[in-house]
Amino acid sequence: MTETYTIYLILFYTNQSTGVKVGALGNVYLSAGYYVYVGSARRAIGARLKRHRRIVKTKRWHLDYVRPALKWRGSIKCVTHDGECALADQVRHQLNGVTVKKRLGSSDCKCETHFLKLTGQLIPERLKYFADAWNRGEFTKS
Ligand SMILES: [Zn+2]
Repeated sequence: MTETYTIYLILFYTNQSTGVKVGALGNVYLSAGYYVYVGSARRAIGARLKRHRRIVKTKRWHLDYVRPALKWRGSIKCVTHDGECALADQVRHQLNGVTVKKRLGSSDCKCETHFLKLTGQLIPERLKYFADAWNRGEFTKS
């Protein structure tokens, strides 16, 4: 069976600035505000999201290092369409996402990052609106 949702967005928030060491990437500075992570799971996306939500775990992905510094604000499953890199690209363009650290969350692809800071008003609402539009296929090339 082909899974409909294999990519996802996770929204995080922090009200205080903090620095985190992320494995070989080095120090990452997180200023107060909203962050979104774009990921994929070919199977068991629900289990993957539960894992990302947990704070105590063996560190495997870049996100695991920044996770303890951030509050979980929600996740949205997305239709596979053009894949997680295209989704990350659209988050950057449609929501003015800003790179926090190059290569953060994108060690398996050529993207600058899959972890973006979002600024402005009504971030959770805008992210939901964006994801709904993505899931309807409004941003896909094909
Ligand atoms: Zn990518």
